[in-house]
Amino acid sequence: MLNTNPNSALSSSSLQARSLQAVWHPCTQMKQHETYPLVPIASGKGVWLYDTAGKRYLDAISSWWVNLFGHANPDINAAIHDQLEKIEHVMLAGFTHEPVVALSERLKAITPDSLGHCFYASDGASAVEIALKMSFHYWLLSGQPQKNQFISLQNDYHGETLGALSVTDVAIFKQTYAPLLRPCTHVTTPDWRYAERGESARDYAMRAATALENHVAKNHAQIAAFILEPLVQGATGMGMYHPVYLQRAREICDRYQIHLIADEIAVGFGRTGTLFACNQADIAPDFLCLSKGLSGGYLPLSVVMTSDNIFDAFYDDATARAFLHSHSHTGNALACRAALATLDLIDRQQVIATNQTKATYLNSLTEPLIAHPSVKNFRNCGMIWAFEVETEDSDFAAKCFQAGLSQQLLLRPLGKTIYFMPPYVINEEEINLLVSGTLNVLNSL
Ligand SMILES: *Cc1c(COP(=O)(O)O)cnc(C)c1O
Repeated sequence: MLNTNPNSALSSSSLQARSLQAVWHPCTQMKQHETYPLVPIASGKGVWLYDTAGKRYLDAISSWWVNLFGHANPDINAAIHDQLEKIEHVMLAGFTHEPVVALSERLKAITPDSLGHCFYASDGASAVEIALKMSFHYWLLSGQPQKNQFISLQNDYHGETLGALSVTDVAIFKQTYAPLLRPCTHVTTPDWRYAERGESARDYAMRAATALENHVAKNHAQIAAFILEPLVQGATGMGMYHPVYLQRAREICDRYQIHLIADEIAVGFGRTGTLFACNQADIAPDFLCLSKGLSGGYLPLSVVMTSDNIFDAFYDDATARAFLHSHSHTGNALACRAALATLDLIDRQQVIATNQTKATYLNSLTEPLIAHPSVKNFRNCGMIWAFEVETEDSDFAAKCFQAGLSQQLLLRPLGKTIYFMPPYVINEEEINLLVSGTLNVLNSL
Protein backbone atom coordinates (compact mmCIF):
# COMPACT_ATOMS: atom_id res chain seq x y z
CA MET A 1 0.00 0.00 0.00
CA LEU A 2 1.28 3.47 -0.85
CA ASN A 3 2.13 5.45 2.22
CA THR A 4 0.86 8.99 1.77
CA ASN A 5 1.94 10.42 5.11
CA PRO A 6 4.85 12.82 4.39
CA ASN A 7 6.11 12.50 7.98
CA SER A 8 6.46 8.77 7.95
CA ALA A 9 9.89 8.18 6.51
CA LEU A 10 10.56 5.84 9.41
CA SER A 11 8.34 2.79 9.65
CA SER A 12 7.92 3.51 13.36
CA SER A 13 6.47 6.98 12.86
CA SER A 14 4.21 5.59 10.18
CA LEU A 15 2.82 2.95 12.52
CA GLN A 16 2.29 5.57 15.23
CA ALA A 17 0.60 7.98 12.84
CA ARG A 18 -1.65 5.28 11.39
CA SER A 19 -2.56 4.11 14.90
CA LEU A 20 -3.57 7.61 15.96
CA GLN A 21 -5.75 7.92 12.87
CA ALA A 22 -7.54 4.60 13.24
CA VAL A 23 -7.21 3.16 16.76
CA TRP A 24 -8.90 4.47 19.89
CA HIS A 25 -6.48 3.30 22.59
CA PRO A 26 -7.72 1.98 25.96
CA CYS A 27 -7.53 3.97 29.17
CA THR A 28 -5.95 6.85 27.25
CA GLN A 29 -6.61 10.54 26.64
CA MET A 30 -5.80 10.36 22.94
CA LYS A 31 -4.70 14.00 22.78
CA GLN A 32 -1.80 13.22 25.13
CA HIS A 33 -0.22 11.36 22.26
CA GLU A 34 0.50 14.75 20.70
CA THR A 35 3.13 15.01 23.46
CA TYR A 36 3.91 11.38 24.20
CA PRO A 37 4.38 9.12 21.18
CA LEU A 38 2.97 5.61 21.05
CA VAL A 39 5.55 2.85 21.26
CA PRO A 40 5.27 0.78 18.08
CA ILE A 41 6.03 -2.85 18.97
CA ALA A 42 7.27 -5.18 16.25
CA SER A 43 8.06 -8.32 18.23
CA GLY A 44 8.70 -9.84 21.63
CA LYS A 45 10.87 -12.53 23.16
CA GLY A 46 10.92 -13.52 26.82
CA VAL A 47 10.67 -10.42 29.03
CA TRP A 48 11.63 -8.18 26.08
CA LEU A 49 9.50 -6.14 23.70
CA TYR A 50 11.21 -4.81 20.55
CA ASP A 51 10.01 -1.69 18.79
CA THR A 52 10.02 -1.13 15.05
CA ALA A 53 13.37 0.68 15.31
CA GLY A 54 14.91 -2.29 17.13
CA LYS A 55 15.00 -0.72 20.60
CA ARG A 56 14.07 -3.09 23.42
CA TYR A 57 12.01 -2.66 26.59
CA LEU A 58 11.86 -5.00 29.58
CA ASP A 59 8.16 -5.72 30.14
CA ALA A 60 8.25 -5.08 33.91
CA ILE A 61 4.46 -5.15 34.21
CA SER A 62 3.82 -8.26 32.10
CA SER A 63 1.75 -6.27 29.60
CA TRP A 64 -0.97 -5.33 32.07
CA TRP A 65 -0.28 -8.36 34.29
CA VAL A 66 -1.24 -11.03 31.78
CA ASN A 67 2.08 -12.52 30.69
CA LEU A 68 3.58 -15.29 32.85
CA PHE A 69 6.19 -17.08 30.72
CA GLY A 70 7.45 -14.39 28.40
CA HIS A 71 6.53 -13.25 24.93
CA ALA A 72 6.79 -15.72 22.05
CA ASN A 73 7.10 -18.61 24.47
CA PRO A 74 8.06 -21.66 22.39
CA ASP A 75 5.86 -24.13 24.32
CA ILE A 76 2.73 -21.99 24.22
CA ASN A 77 3.37 -21.16 20.56
CA ALA A 78 3.66 -24.86 19.72
CA ALA A 79 0.43 -25.72 21.53
CA ILE A 80 -1.50 -23.05 19.65
CA HIS A 81 0.01 -24.09 16.30
CA ASP A 82 -0.99 -27.68 16.98
CA GLN A 83 -4.53 -26.71 17.91
CA LEU A 84 -4.86 -24.50 14.82
CA GLU A 85 -4.52 -27.60 12.65
CA LYS A 86 -7.42 -29.28 14.51
CA ILE A 87 -10.20 -26.87 15.42
CA GLU A 88 -9.79 -23.17 16.16
CA HIS A 89 -13.22 -22.61 17.67
CA VAL A 90 -16.61 -24.20 17.99
CA MET A 91 -19.61 -22.94 19.95
CA LEU A 92 -19.76 -24.42 23.43
CA ALA A 93 -23.56 -24.76 23.64
CA GLY A 94 -24.40 -28.28 22.50
CA PHE A 95 -20.73 -29.00 21.62
CA THR A 96 -17.61 -29.81 23.55
CA HIS A 97 -13.95 -30.46 22.75
CA GLU A 98 -10.83 -31.94 24.30
CA PRO A 99 -9.06 -28.66 25.22
CA VAL A 100 -11.99 -27.25 27.22
CA VAL A 101 -12.58 -30.55 29.03
CA ALA A 102 -8.90 -31.08 29.77
CA LEU A 103 -8.53 -27.50 31.01
CA SER A 104 -11.56 -27.80 33.30
CA GLU A 105 -10.20 -31.04 34.75
CA ARG A 106 -6.80 -29.45 35.33
CA LEU A 107 -8.32 -26.39 37.00
CA LYS A 108 -10.43 -28.62 39.28
CA ALA A 109 -7.30 -30.52 40.26
CA ILE A 110 -5.36 -27.43 41.36
CA THR A 111 -8.14 -25.50 43.15
CA PRO A 112 -9.99 -26.37 46.38
CA ASP A 113 -12.04 -29.60 46.13
CA SER A 114 -15.30 -27.73 46.50
CA LEU A 115 -14.82 -25.91 43.18
CA GLY A 116 -16.04 -28.43 40.63
CA HIS A 117 -17.54 -26.51 37.70
CA CYS A 118 -15.95 -24.17 35.16
CA PHE A 119 -17.96 -21.52 33.28
CA TYR A 120 -15.93 -19.75 30.58
CA ALA A 121 -15.87 -16.24 29.10
CA SER A 122 -13.34 -14.13 27.26
CA ASP A 123 -12.15 -11.47 29.71
CA GLY A 124 -11.97 -10.65 33.38
CA ALA A 125 -14.87 -8.22 33.56
CA SER A 126 -17.14 -10.84 31.99
CA ALA A 127 -16.05 -13.38 34.59
CA VAL A 128 -17.03 -10.92 37.31
CA GLU A 129 -20.41 -10.31 35.64
CA ILE A 130 -20.99 -14.06 35.55
CA ALA A 131 -20.13 -14.54 39.23
CA LEU A 132 -22.46 -11.68 40.25
CA LYS A 133 -25.33 -12.94 38.10
CA MET A 134 -24.88 -16.55 39.23
CA SER A 135 -24.79 -15.55 42.87
CA PHE A 136 -27.99 -13.52 42.62
CA HIS A 137 -29.62 -16.25 40.53
CA TYR A 138 -28.67 -18.89 43.10
CA TRP A 139 -30.44 -16.98 45.86
CA LEU A 140 -33.45 -16.40 43.60
CA LEU A 141 -33.66 -20.14 42.92
CA SER A 142 -33.33 -20.77 46.65
CA GLY A 143 -36.37 -18.65 47.44
CA GLN A 144 -34.42 -15.58 48.58
CA PRO A 145 -34.89 -13.01 45.78
CA GLN A 146 -34.28 -10.14 48.21
CA LYS A 147 -30.60 -11.13 48.33
CA ASN A 148 -29.70 -8.92 45.36
CA GLN A 149 -27.01 -6.57 46.76
CA PHE A 150 -23.26 -6.93 46.50
CA ILE A 151 -20.50 -5.61 48.70
CA SER A 152 -16.82 -5.24 47.87
CA LEU A 153 -13.68 -3.75 49.39
CA GLN A 154 -12.90 -0.07 49.41
CA ASN A 155 -10.34 0.47 46.58
CA ASP A 156 -11.21 -2.82 44.86
CA TYR A 157 -11.08 -3.19 41.08
CA HIS A 158 -13.16 -5.78 39.25
CA GLY A 159 -13.33 -4.56 35.66
CA GLU A 160 -15.15 -1.89 33.72
CA THR A 161 -18.38 -3.27 32.30
CA LEU A 162 -21.36 -1.85 34.17
CA GLY A 163 -21.87 -4.72 36.61
CA ALA A 164 -18.16 -5.09 37.34
CA LEU A 165 -17.77 -1.33 37.62
CA SER A 166 -20.59 -1.26 40.20
CA VAL A 167 -18.47 -3.36 42.56
CA THR A 168 -15.28 -1.49 41.66
CA ASP A 169 -14.15 1.38 43.87
CA VAL A 170 -11.57 3.29 41.84
CA ALA A 171 -12.81 6.83 41.33
CA ILE A 172 -11.16 7.63 37.98
CA PHE A 173 -12.86 4.69 36.32
CA LYS A 174 -16.15 4.93 38.17
CA GLN A 175 -17.15 8.53 38.85
CA THR A 176 -18.24 9.47 35.33
CA TYR A 177 -20.50 6.46 35.00
CA ALA A 178 -22.01 6.57 38.49
CA PRO A 179 -25.54 7.27 37.18
CA LEU A 180 -25.43 3.99 35.24
CA LEU A 181 -24.33 1.81 38.14
CA ARG A 182 -25.98 -0.20 40.89
CA PRO A 183 -25.29 0.97 44.43
CA CYS A 184 -22.67 -1.11 46.23
CA THR A 185 -21.21 -0.78 49.71
CA HIS A 186 -17.41 -0.82 49.81
CA VAL A 187 -16.31 -2.06 53.22
CA THR A 188 -13.07 -0.96 54.92
CA THR A 189 -9.99 -2.12 53.03
CA PRO A 190 -7.49 -4.26 54.96
CA ASP A 191 -4.63 -2.60 52.95
CA TRP A 192 -1.92 -2.10 55.61
CA ARG A 193 -1.03 1.37 54.34
CA TYR A 194 -4.16 2.47 56.23
CA ALA A 195 -2.95 1.02 59.55
CA GLU A 196 -2.36 3.34 62.49
CA ARG A 197 1.26 3.98 63.41
CA GLY A 198 2.45 0.99 65.44
CA GLU A 199 -0.45 -1.23 64.35
CA SER A 200 0.68 -4.45 62.65
CA ALA A 201 -0.65 -5.51 59.24
CA ARG A 202 -2.36 -8.41 60.95
CA ASP A 203 -3.99 -6.27 63.64
CA TYR A 204 -5.17 -3.82 61.03
CA ALA A 205 -6.61 -6.64 58.89
CA MET A 206 -8.47 -7.92 61.96
CA ARG A 207 -9.87 -4.43 62.54
CA ALA A 208 -11.04 -4.22 58.91
CA ALA A 209 -12.68 -7.65 59.32
CA THR A 210 -14.61 -6.35 62.33
CA ALA A 211 -15.92 -3.52 60.15
CA LEU A 212 -16.97 -6.13 57.58
CA GLU A 213 -18.77 -8.16 60.23
CA ASN A 214 -20.59 -5.09 61.54
CA HIS A 215 -21.85 -4.27 58.06
CA VAL A 216 -22.80 -7.84 57.18
CA ALA A 217 -24.54 -8.48 60.50
CA LYS A 218 -26.92 -5.60 59.78
CA ASN A 219 -27.44 -6.12 56.05
CA HIS A 220 -26.96 -9.81 55.26
CA ALA A 221 -30.62 -10.41 54.41
CA GLN A 222 -30.16 -8.25 51.28
CA ILE A 223 -26.60 -9.28 50.40
CA ALA A 224 -25.98 -11.95 47.77
CA ALA A 225 -22.18 -11.87 47.78
CA PHE A 226 -18.99 -10.23 48.96
CA ILE A 227 -16.48 -9.88 46.14
CA LEU A 228 -12.83 -9.09 46.83
CA GLU A 229 -9.36 -9.06 45.36
CA PRO A 230 -7.47 -11.52 47.58
CA LEU A 231 -4.19 -10.23 49.13
CA VAL A 232 -3.36 -7.56 46.52
CA GLN A 233 -5.66 -4.76 45.36
CA GLY A 234 -4.04 -4.25 41.97
CA ALA A 235 -5.51 -1.38 39.98
CA THR A 236 -5.78 0.90 42.98
CA GLY A 237 -1.99 0.79 43.31
CA MET A 238 -0.96 -2.67 44.56
CA GLY A 239 -2.40 -2.34 48.05
CA MET A 240 -1.37 -5.45 50.01
CA TYR A 241 -2.96 -7.03 53.05
CA HIS A 242 -2.59 -9.83 55.59
CA PRO A 243 -4.17 -13.22 54.72
CA VAL A 244 -5.97 -13.34 58.08
CA TYR A 245 -8.53 -11.00 56.51
CA LEU A 246 -9.47 -13.72 54.02
CA GLN A 247 -9.95 -16.23 56.85
CA ARG A 248 -12.20 -13.84 58.72
CA ALA A 249 -14.11 -12.95 55.53
CA ARG A 250 -14.76 -16.65 54.89
CA GLU A 251 -16.06 -17.14 58.45
CA ILE A 252 -18.29 -14.08 58.24
CA CYS A 253 -19.73 -15.07 54.86
CA ASP A 254 -20.49 -18.56 56.21
CA ARG A 255 -22.06 -17.26 59.40
CA TYR A 256 -24.36 -14.82 57.57
CA GLN A 257 -25.03 -16.91 54.46
CA ILE A 258 -23.50 -14.76 51.77
CA HIS A 259 -21.30 -15.92 48.92
CA LEU A 260 -17.61 -15.12 48.83
CA ILE A 261 -16.35 -14.30 45.33
CA ALA A 262 -12.55 -14.36 45.02
CA ASP A 263 -11.45 -12.27 42.05
CA GLU A 264 -8.03 -13.82 41.38
CA ILE A 265 -7.96 -12.44 37.83
CA ALA A 266 -4.71 -10.59 38.55
CA VAL A 267 -3.23 -12.66 41.39
CA GLY A 268 -3.94 -16.25 40.32
CA PHE A 269 -1.32 -18.69 38.99
CA GLY A 270 1.52 -17.99 41.38
CA ARG A 271 1.66 -14.20 41.36
CA THR A 272 1.42 -13.81 45.15
CA GLY A 273 3.85 -16.63 45.97
CA THR A 274 1.25 -19.40 46.18
CA LEU A 275 -0.63 -20.89 43.25
CA PHE A 276 -3.70 -18.91 44.31
CA ALA A 277 -3.82 -16.07 46.81
CA CYS A 278 -6.63 -17.82 48.74
CA ASN A 279 -4.18 -20.67 49.47
CA GLN A 280 -2.36 -18.37 51.92
CA ALA A 281 -5.47 -18.26 54.08
CA ASP A 282 -6.36 -21.88 53.36
CA ILE A 283 -9.87 -20.93 52.30
CA ALA A 284 -12.14 -21.87 49.41
CA PRO A 285 -14.37 -19.18 47.91
CA ASP A 286 -17.84 -19.94 46.54
CA PHE A 287 -16.81 -18.44 43.21
CA LEU A 288 -13.27 -18.15 41.87
CA CYS A 289 -12.72 -15.77 38.91
CA LEU A 290 -9.59 -16.32 36.81
CA SER A 291 -8.29 -14.66 33.64
CA LYS A 292 -5.14 -12.65 32.67
CA GLY A 293 -2.39 -15.26 33.31
CA LEU A 294 -4.82 -18.13 32.63
CA SER A 295 -3.77 -18.31 28.97
CA GLY A 296 -0.21 -17.17 29.73
CA GLY A 297 -1.39 -13.77 28.55
CA TYR A 298 -1.76 -15.03 24.99
CA LEU A 299 -5.48 -15.05 24.24
CA PRO A 300 -8.58 -13.62 25.89
CA LEU A 301 -9.91 -16.28 28.24
CA SER A 302 -11.59 -16.23 31.63
CA VAL A 303 -13.31 -18.74 33.84
CA VAL A 304 -15.59 -18.72 36.87
CA MET A 305 -15.28 -21.80 39.04
CA THR A 306 -18.16 -22.68 41.37
CA SER A 307 -19.10 -25.27 43.94
CA ASP A 308 -21.42 -28.26 43.42
CA ASN A 309 -23.89 -26.59 45.73
CA ILE A 310 -24.28 -23.65 43.37
CA PHE A 311 -24.24 -25.78 40.23
CA ASP A 312 -26.91 -28.11 41.67
CA ALA A 313 -29.33 -25.25 42.32
CA PHE A 314 -29.52 -24.64 38.55
CA TYR A 315 -29.75 -28.34 37.59
CA ASP A 316 -33.37 -29.01 36.72
CA ASP A 317 -35.85 -30.01 34.00
CA ALA A 318 -36.88 -26.37 33.54
CA THR A 319 -34.87 -24.32 31.04
CA ALA A 320 -35.83 -21.22 32.98
CA ARG A 321 -33.78 -22.45 35.95
CA ALA A 322 -30.63 -22.71 33.82
CA PHE A 323 -27.88 -20.09 33.72
CA LEU A 324 -28.82 -18.55 30.36
CA HIS A 325 -25.64 -16.57 29.82
CA SER A 326 -23.16 -16.87 26.97
CA HIS A 327 -20.35 -15.18 25.10
CA SER A 328 -19.65 -15.99 21.46
CA HIS A 329 -16.13 -17.16 22.18
CA THR A 330 -16.93 -19.12 25.36
CA GLY A 331 -14.40 -21.95 25.74
CA ASN A 332 -12.35 -21.00 22.68
CA ALA A 333 -10.20 -24.00 21.79
CA LEU A 334 -7.03 -22.03 20.94
CA ALA A 335 -7.23 -20.12 24.22
CA CYS A 336 -7.81 -23.35 26.16
CA ARG A 337 -4.71 -24.90 24.54
CA ALA A 338 -2.68 -21.83 25.49
CA ALA A 339 -3.97 -22.28 29.05
CA LEU A 340 -3.08 -25.98 29.11
CA ALA A 341 0.44 -25.17 27.89
CA THR A 342 0.67 -22.50 30.61
CA LEU A 343 -0.36 -25.00 33.31
CA ASP A 344 2.27 -27.42 31.96
CA LEU A 345 4.90 -24.70 32.34
CA ILE A 346 3.74 -23.93 35.90
CA ASP A 347 4.32 -27.60 36.75
CA ARG A 348 7.46 -28.21 34.74
CA GLN A 349 9.27 -25.04 35.85
CA GLN A 350 8.19 -25.53 39.48
CA VAL A 351 7.04 -21.97 39.41
CA ILE A 352 6.31 -21.46 43.09
CA ALA A 353 9.80 -22.49 44.18
CA THR A 354 11.55 -20.84 41.22
CA ASN A 355 9.72 -17.56 41.78
CA GLN A 356 10.66 -17.69 45.45
CA THR A 357 14.34 -17.78 44.45
CA LYS A 358 13.87 -14.94 41.97
CA ALA A 359 11.96 -12.83 44.49
CA THR A 360 14.69 -13.38 47.09
CA TYR A 361 17.27 -12.28 44.54
CA LEU A 362 15.32 -9.14 43.61
CA ASN A 363 14.81 -8.32 47.30
CA SER A 364 18.57 -8.55 47.85
CA LEU A 365 18.99 -5.58 45.47
CA THR A 366 16.31 -3.24 46.76
CA GLU A 367 18.22 -1.53 49.60
CA PRO A 368 19.06 1.59 47.51
CA LEU A 369 15.45 1.82 46.30
CA ILE A 370 14.05 1.58 49.82
CA ALA A 371 16.60 4.15 51.03
CA HIS A 372 15.81 6.59 48.22
CA PRO A 373 14.47 9.86 49.72
CA SER A 374 11.36 9.94 47.53
CA VAL A 375 10.36 6.26 48.05
CA LYS A 376 7.62 5.36 50.53
CA ASN A 377 5.83 2.13 51.57
CA PHE A 378 8.10 -0.29 49.73
CA ARG A 379 6.29 -3.63 49.72
CA ASN A 380 6.44 -7.08 48.14
CA CYS A 381 4.09 -10.03 47.80
CA GLY A 382 5.38 -12.97 45.74
CA MET A 383 6.22 -11.60 42.29
CA ILE A 384 4.73 -8.15 42.90
CA TRP A 385 6.70 -5.17 44.22
CA ALA A 386 5.37 -1.65 44.72
CA PHE A 387 6.18 1.69 46.32
CA GLU A 388 4.89 5.23 46.29
CA VAL A 389 6.98 8.14 45.02
CA GLU A 390 6.70 11.41 46.92
CA THR A 391 6.19 14.02 44.25
CA GLU A 392 4.00 17.05 43.63
CA ASP A 393 4.03 16.43 39.87
CA SER A 394 0.50 15.61 38.66
CA ASP A 395 2.02 14.32 35.41
CA PHE A 396 4.32 11.94 37.27
CA ALA A 397 2.98 8.69 35.77
CA ALA A 398 3.47 9.84 32.16
CA LYS A 399 6.94 11.25 32.84
CA CYS A 400 7.99 8.12 34.71
CA PHE A 401 6.77 5.96 31.82
CA GLN A 402 8.89 8.01 29.39
CA ALA A 403 11.94 7.95 31.67
CA GLY A 404 11.48 4.18 31.98
CA LEU A 405 11.60 3.73 28.22
CA SER A 406 14.95 5.52 28.09
CA GLN A 407 16.22 2.95 30.64
CA GLN A 408 14.88 0.05 28.49
CA LEU A 409 12.05 -0.46 30.95
CA LEU A 410 8.31 -0.68 30.48
CA LEU A 411 7.09 0.78 33.78
CA ARG A 412 3.56 2.12 33.84
CA PRO A 413 2.95 3.67 37.26
CA LEU A 414 -0.53 3.69 38.77
CA GLY A 415 -0.67 7.35 39.77
CA LYS A 416 2.34 7.79 42.06
CA THR A 417 2.80 4.07 42.63
CA ILE A 418 5.62 2.38 40.75
CA TYR A 419 5.33 -1.38 40.67
CA PHE A 420 7.11 -4.42 39.23
CA MET A 421 5.09 -7.42 38.10
CA PRO A 422 7.52 -9.08 35.69
CA PRO A 423 7.03 -12.27 33.68
CA TYR A 424 8.22 -15.30 35.67
CA VAL A 425 10.96 -15.99 33.11
CA ILE A 426 12.94 -12.91 34.17
CA ASN A 427 16.60 -13.84 34.90
CA GLU A 428 19.15 -12.32 37.29
CA GLU A 429 20.73 -10.07 34.69
CA GLU A 430 17.32 -8.72 33.76
CA ILE A 431 16.43 -8.23 37.44
CA ASN A 432 19.65 -6.21 37.87
CA LEU A 433 18.63 -4.01 34.96
CA LEU A 434 15.10 -3.61 36.32
CA VAL A 435 16.27 -2.39 39.73
CA SER A 436 19.18 -0.22 38.56
CA GLY A 437 17.10 1.24 35.71
CA THR A 438 14.33 2.15 38.14
CA LEU A 439 16.85 3.91 40.39
CA ASN A 440 18.05 5.88 37.38
CA VAL A 441 14.44 6.80 36.59
CA LEU A 442 13.88 8.06 40.15
CA ASN A 443 17.08 10.09 40.05
CA SER A 444 16.17 11.61 36.70
CA LEU A 445 12.71 12.85 37.76
C1 LIG B 1 -7.85 -6.88 35.14
C2 LIG B 1 -8.81 -7.20 36.22
C3 LIG B 1 -10.17 -7.41 35.96
C4 LIG B 1 -10.77 -7.19 34.60
O1 LIG B 1 -10.25 -8.02 33.63
P1 LIG B 1 -10.37 -7.56 32.09
O2 LIG B 1 -9.89 -8.74 31.32
O3 LIG B 1 -9.50 -6.36 31.94
O4 LIG B 1 -11.81 -7.25 31.85
C5 LIG B 1 -10.98 -7.77 37.00
N1 LIG B 1 -10.50 -7.93 38.25
C6 LIG B 1 -9.20 -7.75 38.54
C7 LIG B 1 -8.72 -7.99 39.93
C8 LIG B 1 -8.32 -7.36 37.54
O5 LIG B 1 -7.03 -7.13 37.84
